[in-house]
Amino acid sequence: QSAPLFGQVTVIGLGLIGGSLAAALRNGGLAGRLVAGSRSARTLERGLAMGLVDAAYQDLAEAVRGADLVFVAVPVSAMADTFAAIAPALGRHTIITDGGSVKGPVIEAARQHLGVHYARFVPGHPIAGKERSGVEAADAALYQRHRIILTPTEATDPAATAKVRQLWTAVGAEVLDMRPAEHDRVLAETSHLPHLLAFALVDTLSRQGDSTDIFRYAAGGFRDFTRIASSDPVMWHDIFIENRDAVLAAADEFAAGLARFRAAVANGDSEALLGTMTRANTARARFL
Ligand code: NAD
Repeated sequence: QSAPLFGQVTVIGLGLIGGSLAAALRNGGLAGRLVAGSRSARTLERGLAMGLVDAAYQDLAEAVRGADLVFVAVPVSAMADTFAAIAPALGRHTIITDGGSVKGPVIEAARQHLGVHYARFVPGHPIAGKERSGVEAADAALYQRHRIILTPTEATDPAATAKVRQLWTAVGAEVLDMRPAEHDRVLAETSHLPHLLAFALVDTLSRQGDSTDIFRYAAGGFRDFTRIASSDPVMWHDIFIENRDAVLAAADEFAAGLARFRAAVANGDSEALLGTMTRANTARARFL
């Protein structure tokens, strides 16, 4: 095995996203030492028992001491407190990056709480995940052949961005750069809106009488469309609230499309119906 890419890597928030990076770094021999900081003692015990990290601390400042790179993977609403807790213990060269699903508010939290270390903060978002959460769901292969979006700002040191790019490339991911606002707008459309629709659809149907009865008659289409309604409510609560403006814009856009579709059905407008679905077929074919 070649020399590790990093000395100490600390993961704050050892859940699906943080635990999977720790596992991938461990498997690749990419970190000299792996340390976790997380809120719950049980998570840390599990992480140690699974062999994901060499040391684990509930005290987040203790966890980042001596780290060359810190990956923050807590829920988006916990980022500000986390940055405030680790800032005093960060080194002069420590690179800080994150995996939060919304970038604008996380960048603002970092700017407010990381102090001089903000220049070495590289905002990021792995476009990888699953419906399961928690350290038990950690998967060393999660990031392989998946995309990572980095959204550096004018304040971000390009050398820090290059190092974080190296990190993700080393675990098999493809790294893309985006502006933070563009990231939040695009993800609102391609990820946040579909989750909103899936949650709303399943909830709406399940309120209509006996839900087990409805779901008994559901087939593959329903399963495919609603898979993401099993996603973690706490995580998604944070995303909808933190990316509110972009989510509302996407929801309004969709509501207008739904109204057009509904009108076409109501009016028996075959041309409008076939036109809409044919355009959707063509667009979907380009995605596959
Ligand atoms: P998770 O629930 O599996 O893990 C979160 C971890 O953070 C847990 O170990 C929890 O104990 C810890 N934690 C929670 N609050 C904390 C606090 N205040 N201080 C310290 N630790 C705390 O969630 P996850 O799916 O790994 O998501 C983590 C981050 O990654 C979120 O910001 C989420 O938006 C982002 N993300 C998730 C996915 C996904 O599909 N799950 C994909 C991309 C990005």
